[in-house]
Amino acid sequence: MKKLFYFLLIITMMVSFGFEKTTDAVAKPINVVIDVAHGGSDSGAVIKGISEKQLVEQLSKKIKSSNQNVQLHFTRNDDKTLSLQERAAFINTLKPDLVLSIHINSNRDTNKSGLEIFTAQEENEFSQKSTEIAQKLSSKLSENDFLKGNELRKAPFYILKKTNAPAILIELGYLSNENDFKYLTDTNTQNKIANSISEFISDLGK
Ligand SMILES: [Zn+2]
Repeated sequence: MKKLFYFLLIITMMVSFGFEKTTDAVAKPINVVIDVAHGGSDSGAVIKGISEKQLVEQLSKKIKSSNQNVQLHFTRNDDKTLSLQERAAFINTLKPDLVLSIHINSNRDTNKSGLEIFTAQEENEFSQKSTEIAQKLSSKLSENDFLKGNELRKAPFYILKKTNAPAILIELGYLSNENDFKYLTDTNTQNKIANSISEFISDLGK
C-alpha cells in the first residue's frame, strides 16, 4: 500500500511539473480591441459625401497583428449601428489589455487640423497605463510626417470612462480640413496609418 502511495505521488509530481513547463512556454496572450467608431444609422462626421464611419471601417480592416501572441478584436466588422453601451459591454466581457477607439474629427473651423490622442479625464486604475501607451502610440504615429499635431489630451468620452481596461481614443485628423481630408481619404496614406498602428499593436506582445 505504501509503495502504491509513493508511486502515485511520483506520478502526480511528474504530471504537475509537466504542466508547469507547458504554462511557462506559452506566454499569456495580449488582447486588443479596436473600437471601430460610429456605423449604421450613425455616420459620424460627413464631408463632401465621405463619412467618418466608412473611413474608420476601411482603415480598421487594414489593421493586423503580425504577432501571434497579440489577438485583435473589433467592435464591428460591417456597417452596423452600435450604441456606446453595447461597445462598452462587449469590451468589458473581453477584459482586454488595450482598447483603441478610432475616430475622425470635423469642425466648423476648417483651419482646425491634425491628430489628437485622448485618454480618460477621470482618474481610474488604468490611467497610468493608458497614458503610458498613448505616449508610445503618439511617437509611433509621428513617424508619418503627414500626421500633424499628435498631442495627448484628456476627455470625458464614454468609451474611455466605461471600459475596464487601458483605453485610448484617437481622432486621426479633421475631415473638414482640406489637407487632412486628403490623407484620410487617400489609400496610400491610409495604409501608412494602418501599418503604424499594426506595428505598434504587434510590438505590445514582445
Ligand atoms: Zn467620431
